[in-house]
Amino acid sequence: MKKIGKKVTAALLLMLSISFAACGTKEPAAPETPETPSTIGEGLFTPGTYEGTAKGYHGDITLTVTVDENNILEIKSEHTETEGLGDKAVATLTEAALEKASLSMDLVSGATYSSQGFLAALEAALVKAGADVEKLKIKETVEVEKKDQEFDTEVAIIGGGGAGLAAAVSAHQNGAKVLLVEKMPNVGGNTIISGSAFNAVDPKRQSAQGIEDSVEKHFQQTYEGGDKQGDPELVRVLVENAYPTIEWLESLGMKFTDKVFTVLGALWPRSHKPVEPLGTGYVNTFMNYINEHKDDITVLTEVEAKELLVNADGAVTGFLAEGKNGKITVNAKNGVIVATGGFGANVEMRDQYNTIWPKLTNIKTTNHRGATGDGIIMAEKVNASIVQMENIQLLPMGDPVTGSLSGNIEQGVENRIFVNAEGNRFVDEGARRDVMTKALMEQTDSMMWVIVDKHSYPTGDTVNNFNETIDSLVKEGRAYKADTLEDLAKQIGVEPENLVKAVEAFNASVDGAEDEFGRTLFMDKLDTAPFYAGKRVPTVHHTMGGIKITPETRVVDQNGEIIKGLFAAGEVTGGIHGSNRLGGNALADVHTFGRIAGATAASEGK
Ligand code: ADP
Repeated sequence: MKKIGKKVTAALLLMLSISFAACGTKEPAAPETPETPSTIGEGLFTPGTYEGTAKGYHGDITLTVTVDENNILEIKSEHTETEGLGDKAVATLTEAALEKASLSMDLVSGATYSSQGFLAALEAALVKAGADVEKLKIKETVEVEKKDQEFDTEVAIIGGGGAGLAAAVSAHQNGAKVLLVEKMPNVGGNTIISGSAFNAVDPKRQSAQGIEDSVEKHFQQTYEGGDKQGDPELVRVLVENAYPTIEWLESLGMKFTDKVFTVLGALWPRSHKPVEPLGTGYVNTFMNYINEHKDDITVLTEVEAKELLVNADGAVTGFLAEGKNGKITVNAKNGVIVATGGFGANVEMRDQYNTIWPKLTNIKTTNHRGATGDGIIMAEKVNASIVQMENIQLLPMGDPVTGSLSGNIEQGVENRIFVNAEGNRFVDEGARRDVMTKALMEQTDSMMWVIVDKHSYPTGDTVNNFNETIDSLVKEGRAYKADTLEDLAKQIGVEPENLVKAVEAFNASVDGAEDEFGRTLFMDKLDTAPFYAGKRVPTVHHTMGGIKITPETRVVDQNGEIIKGLFAAGEVTGGIHGSNRLGGNALADVHTFGRIAGATAASEGK
């Protein structure tokens, strides 16, 4: 696996029909910067090769751009963007720029900062080429003839995150023709940018590591961890089917590592980690299947569902949507699966339903911008029961600048502590997510430092859960590294004596002393240099409220009756996790219920 931190050099020699002879040189010229661009005649650029640099997500993106008078001929890029996500955005935008010399491309969903960095670097290079960049930023309003379209299918799915894609594959495996719409330019939703942990009681991997576990324990921890607010029947479906879902994913070609771990707030070591970075493994696995069955599964991106269609008997028969080129009507013989995710990125909706946190208006989110609760709103309009909307999950693990999970240096729960601005521990770091976040909010400036040592990063190019090397994080000033705790404390501005005492007390707990905060999950002491620190703040992560479903994923209406032809799965549903979701249970939930929804919808009417 390629590690981030290595420079990725991409030379995309496209526009193959145009040879470099056209710009007067056989080889691409070395970067040059004409002081005053020479006359550019009727063309857009002064032919030549120019360099532009701008900040991406993980540091500089540098582009070496070769142009002739009207075209971008070649873009070479150097960057350290996240493998599987940021680097894909760079590749997508490179292709778009080569196809059409422009600065008006849409940002790639889930990779906003990488996309913005790419466009800024391209702009810097094109300024040197004498371009009128403002003109290049104008979106071409090509008069595309608006054409309304109508599609007939058996199972229609709204949303292309983990739940929707799992449902699409499963519905097809169960014999249905499928059409899925996704409002963003790319599928993946929150699933693709997640830390990717998947909880399941695993007879193979856990016993190999000597971890005792049972489905009953997973049930108890999930149910009690959500203050018994979750529907026990749905919790049962989740915990009993989590491992079969892993096996199903494996049957589709997905690979998980052998080692299970405890992700933040999971309460127990049963979190599985895919081999591919972030959530890309799940999405790639489903898309590989979908691409192999293109005749039966249609995926339409940049199509936003707006309204569910209901017939005279109250059954859902399809939906209305809007695409780039006009209105779209989808008729679904078997019905519609709503898999639109949560509302973590919809600040208004968060504020409307939040009752358990202090004001959330200014808290950032780990979510992608499409997590706006559309499915909940659409389902409510057809009388669906919407439950537990106040149950909004925050993590204590947000990046201070973006709110994202990127830059988080913890490698599991057992090997790290949290200290506040004074350098003191303040909570059981193995506790529930809500407990930890509430404790964090009471600390000075609502911020904390995660402290780890060499046990978490044996080498500088060891990656975190976001596929970032510790060296790259230190280099970018997003993590701090020191040979002693005193030096680390000085670098991060906490009282050295406090930090040393906090670590000593923690190490004593690892040896069996009673922990001041009641912590029970331990592995290694924090005793081996180098020591590292990373800053974290509260961030909105998951919305546990939403559409009420049955164990078969049928949507229940406000009178407790089934709405015929309507199914829901994933974060759009409510009442599974209760007041607090266990870390690692979301991907288990979305893929398990997505798989069930596909099977249920495929069998509808048969
Ligand atoms: P889950 O984990 O439940 O699958 P995700 O957030 O991963 O949730 O995925 C939900 C997907 O649904 C996102 O890709 C999002 O852009 C998409 N989506 C949300 N609202 C709509 C809508 N109105 N029409 C089409 N797609 C939507």
